[in-house]
Amino acid sequence: MLAMTPQDVRLGAAVSSKEEAIRAVGEILLSSGSIQPEYVESMLAREKTATTFLGNGLAIPHGRPQDSDHILQTRVAVLQLPGGVEWTPGKTAHLVFGIAAKSDEHIGLLRQLTGIVSDASLARRLAETADAREILAAVSTGVEEEQGAEAAEDFPGSEMEVLFSNPRGFHLRPAGKFARAVQAYPGKVTLVVKRREVEADSPSRILSLGITSGDTLRIRVQGEDETDTLSLLAALMEEINNEPQEKEADEIQTAQWTPGEGQAMTTLEGIMASPGLALARTWQWHPAELTNQKRVTGDTDAEVAAIKHAILTAKKQLLLLTEGNLNAVQRGLFEAHASLVADDEVADETAELIRAGDDALTAWNATIENRAHRIASLEDAHLAQRADDIRDVGMRVQKILLGVDVDPLESVIEPIILVADDLEPSQAAQLKADKIKGICLRKGSPNAHAAIVSRSLGIPMLVAIGAGLEHLTMGETVILDASAGRIILQPSDADIESAKVAIREVNVQRDQEWDCRFDPAMLRDGHRVEVVANIGETSEAHAVIESGAEGVGLLRSEFLFLDRDHAPDEEEQYQAMREMIEALQGMPMIVRTLDIGGDKPVNYLGLSDLDLSFLGLRGFRLSQARPDLAMTQLRAIFRAAEHGPIKLMFPMIATPNDFLRAREMTEKVRREMGAPKIELGVMIEVPSAVAMASELAELADFFSIGTNDLTQYTLAIDRTHPLLARRADSLHPAVLRLIRDTVNAAHDKGKWVGVCGGLAADPLGALILTGLGVDELSMPSALVPQIKALLRREDSVQLAELATRALHQRDARAVRALRPAH
Ligand code: PEP
Ligand code: MG
Repeated sequence: MLAMTPQDVRLGAAVSSKEEAIRAVGEILLSSGSIQPEYVESMLAREKTATTFLGNGLAIPHGRPQDSDHILQTRVAVLQLPGGVEWTPGKTAHLVFGIAAKSDEHIGLLRQLTGIVSDASLARRLAETADAREILAAVSTGVEEEQGAEAAEDFPGSEMEVLFSNPRGFHLRPAGKFARAVQAYPGKVTLVVKRREVEADSPSRILSLGITSGDTLRIRVQGEDETDTLSLLAALMEEINNEPQEKEADEIQTAQWTPGEGQAMTTLEGIMASPGLALARTWQWHPAELTNQKRVTGDTDAEVAAIKHAILTAKKQLLLLTEGNLNAVQRGLFEAHASLVADDEVADETAELIRAGDDALTAWNATIENRAHRIASLEDAHLAQRADDIRDVGMRVQKILLGVDVDPLESVIEPIILVADDLEPSQAAQLKADKIKGICLRKGSPNAHAAIVSRSLGIPMLVAIGAGLEHLTMGETVILDASAGRIILQPSDADIESAKVAIREVNVQRDQEWDCRFDPAMLRDGHRVEVVANIGETSEAHAVIESGAEGVGLLRSEFLFLDRDHAPDEEEQYQAMREMIEALQGMPMIVRTLDIGGDKPVNYLGLSDLDLSFLGLRGFRLSQARPDLAMTQLRAIFRAAEHGPIKLMFPMIATPNDFLRAREMTEKVRREMGAPKIELGVMIEVPSAVAMASELAELADFFSIGTNDLTQYTLAIDRTHPLLARRADSLHPAVLRLIRDTVNAAHDKGKWVGVCGGLAADPLGALILTGLGVDELSMPSALVPQIKALLRREDSVQLAELATRALHQRDARAVRALRPAH
């Protein structure tokens, strides 16, 4: 127990800010010779990452553990603030206990303070007393009282014994974390130590047990899913035991915000598809429906006036769009559309058709289709692609004529959280406006392409929320805590403020990471991981270099085949890939051959639903069934490879024979063209490929693990299933064990292994994959700076140890609770 004297207490103080309060209590510690001045700065720094407000007007500022060298003797000082000071928004501190403790001696004090926290009238009295001894007495009597109830011998629920070994004791931060986990559980959880038992849903009750290193704890759970909950809480306890002792502030970036304690919150739960935190009003997305729309027509003059007006409106809209906060590619696109719509010839041709008897809409559609058709048949594939732009512009004017909102989002002025039933990949790709701060989907899955697009844009996204989404009132401000898989409805003012601060802090950190994006992802011990980008369209290749990525680890070449009515020819494919490899300026690009099927269907190949299913003619199987398509693509790839270092890999390889066939086909094309050899890799996405990884490693030059598919095929969960997708977490130990086996098999044969599925872009996933020995991580460009910075803070021995712990967990939730020990 900590001894305190009246000299340690300063009564009747008045301060105007939390910082002033911390400096004042630090002054008392300094004057008793207990600390060096640096410790005061450490107390202030700590406050930036975690609040030390305990409740009922008590705050307990203390320094960061790595600064304990600045403590000369363990001591506690008290600053009484009768007028109070705002500690966190909405929470006022009247008694500030400044703690300088070298190890866990202050745990006893915390336990004593919980007596005051649970007695509001005592707390009020102490905030105003003119006698320092009253405060000292309250603190020391607290310890005499037994906290909690006598634990019952027989317990009807499930229980588990764990050893508490955190050298700093069960202090405020882990107590808050543990209590929050318990609050999310609908049943009852208690903690027992030395025969005393408390409900574990409140940090102060946990603190009241005064748990220190070496104590044996019993976690008791009663209610639904007892076993799962116990294993989750045990994993959390392990995390608390292994809490970083040095660099506490360096937690994984997206996990920084937590709502205030002890308040009732209404939340909706979903599955995280893109991490992050957003605070904005909700807004319902309804995709426009054009086919059944009717329009009232007028006489010739009225129709000519109508089309003129529609064209002018479209032009204004587009010019307005170019003034928005866009990147160069987006701005270029809208500028091009504005010039297309301003083309007088198009307006004249339409007017002529109207004069010949058509209404404005029919005339406009005919003019546009005619032009699009002419352009689509041009020899130059680059120009031919402009047909899509013409149709796009045509649709814009068509919507204006029909009175359909052109882009519902254009009417949105302030940032929003977009709420929708589901998003098609092509719809998601259009959502590049900076006003979308977050996305919530009733259906959807973290492995679907809409999620991949979201991650590439850095937009937090929650999917598979289900019917609960109906509880969302559109236009209300919510907090989307995608990293924690929840939406907080009607957030308190304090939570809104703290979320704003967290978002601002992340932005500052992002800026710092961006500044260092060209530094390699070199771990503290010199181990280097290649960090490369996934791309799925030509424009994305231009962003790769700027993001700091060291090349392209996955080009989803099927992008050229989707959303159209015929397959692209060799020339079109060659031109697109040539533009990409040239944009990379000498950096390598791995092209993945056509991967149609599953959630990437096409309707012009005459494939049945069964063929297009995830277990059908997907990926390389389609290349086998349609060698004409495969050979055309391979020729385009070999031609593009003349312009830069291209490697090739094949999706959905299930067996060594699959790969032998892929290799044969490639060799045939290469020999016919007289092209030089390129490296050939296998995508590991099917469990049978893992089982045969040794044999495949003999044959291939490299592996790239597609964790999106490997997860769905391992856990037998369709990656697009709106309800089941919740369980398809790539951090499941079952998936991690397959990745371990793959890496070992490849390394045994001297081959390298990349991961290009979503797990590589998940901060914890990137750490565990590195710990498993993965050599290259491929992800959306937008995440490259963050993942590189994260890896640079780590050490390969610690990550290997983290990976080993992950492999030994029972489920993904337990893995998600892990952090590297520092
Ligand atoms: C994967 O399956 O992890 C992968 C990268 O491929 P895709 O998501 O395109 O199926
Ligand atoms: Mg895949």
